[in-house]
Amino acid sequence: ALSDRLSRIVKEMRGQARITESNVTDMLREVRMALLEADVALPVVRDFIARVKEKALGQDVVGSLTPGQVLVSVVNRELAATMGDGVSDINLAAQPPAVILMAGLQGAGKTTTTAKLAKHLIEKRKKKVLTVSGDVYRPAAIEQLKTVTAQAGAEWFPSSPDQKPLDIARAALDYAKKHYVDVLLVDTAGRLAIDEALMREIQELHGALNPVETLFVVDAMQGQDAVNTAKAFKDALPLTGIILTKMDGDSRGGAALSVRQVTGAPIKFAGVSEKIDGLEVFDAERHAGRILGMGDIVALVEQVTAGVDMAAAQKLAAKVKSGGDFDLNDFLDQLRQMKQMGGLSSLMDKLPGNLAAKASEADLSRAEKDIKRKEGIICSMTPKERSKPDLIKATRKRRIAAGAGVHVQEVNRLLKEFEQMQGMMKKMKGGGLMKMMKRMGG
Ligand code: GDP
Ligand code: MG
Repeated sequence: ALSDRLSRIVKEMRGQARITESNVTDMLREVRMALLEADVALPVVRDFIARVKEKALGQDVVGSLTPGQVLVSVVNRELAATMGDGVSDINLAAQPPAVILMAGLQGAGKTTTTAKLAKHLIEKRKKKVLTVSGDVYRPAAIEQLKTVTAQAGAEWFPSSPDQKPLDIARAALDYAKKHYVDVLLVDTAGRLAIDEALMREIQELHGALNPVETLFVVDAMQGQDAVNTAKAFKDALPLTGIILTKMDGDSRGGAALSVRQVTGAPIKFAGVSEKIDGLEVFDAERHAGRILGMGDIVALVEQVTAGVDMAAAQKLAAKVKSGGDFDLNDFLDQLRQMKQMGGLSSLMDKLPGNLAAKASEADLSRAEKDIKRKEGIICSMTPKERSKPDLIKATRKRRIAAGAGVHVQEVNRLLKEFEQMQGMMKKMKGGGLMKMMKRMGG
């Protein structure tokens, strides 16, 4: 095709048309640092880097992209592909009752997640759900499951600390069969560290229950240790899925990559709050951005790759990395870019976890319609006000509001949003991958 010929000519005209040993080494070192900073375990990092290198070497560098930009895309894609394989929901393909066994360390979030899953299965899959606790070591644990099960609107099967977990499980299964329960969720005891008695107990439960899903629940904040825990549970049980909890914390969530690589099981859900509805289908692409700590930059590079305004994205990246102050002019640039790049929500999706999670769908669609008004407000400011937003006090706000035909509150809202974005830009400045962006600059 003509476009193929054209891009070949472009390549031939440029100095570095391919990713080679010599231009990839430094860049991979930065990727390695970013993964380690995100708490991905070292052996997992090594393995991943080797795979990326193999994939990246010899990749064509098309159009106006640089080898660095192409590598970022390869890293992001490989990270997402490693963590996600399209399987997400709970498998219920079994003669009812389908049994789901919850495994994991103490405090991982098993009991909470059991109730969250119960709610999910009731609401999204229209199932009749029963929960039961096999945690006979901590008296409060059984009560805890009872409470959260009620919140989920599911049925709870009573058990008590003087019973054996295996007997409890058998009784619950028997009850579930007689009462036409669709799904039996079995919560289990955890320990603070792996121990043999715990593993034997859960293996016995597995043998007696023949679960269709054996889910490994792991705390995303667990960091490097997640690898050892995952290995121990994988060796003891045929895991069918992973649930990553406490994703609402500040961890960059490198545990996801480690656990996925060690167990080979799909990451099905992510816990995003202590509340009963704090469960989301795991989104591998979004999580890849979070691990790299540069969600929006990756998004920019990729959307730019799709043919949008390269110069504006580079200008922003340059500003971020140089530590220059992010002012209202940049904010305006960004608003305009977002409009060009197929919508605010598509871009917000790719922002690092916490920030994106804060914006609900409804907020986003409103925000999209709002961009024009915001542009109007910023355009009613003087150039000096735009580069020194601190100047904007009450009198100026009134003038700007009048000029843009909006209420003063709207000006306040815009300034607040700008400050949030500015704060995020400051945070991103520290990251190791920013150094790489520098190389990507031209
Ligand atoms: P278990 O020992 O594995 O059963 O863990 P629990 O379900 O009792 O959870 C331990 C603690 O983590 C509790 O305080 C939960 O409220 C909290 N927790 C569980 N999942 C999440 C989550 O996704 N986000 C947050 N913020 N807290 C969670
Ligand atoms: Mg528990």
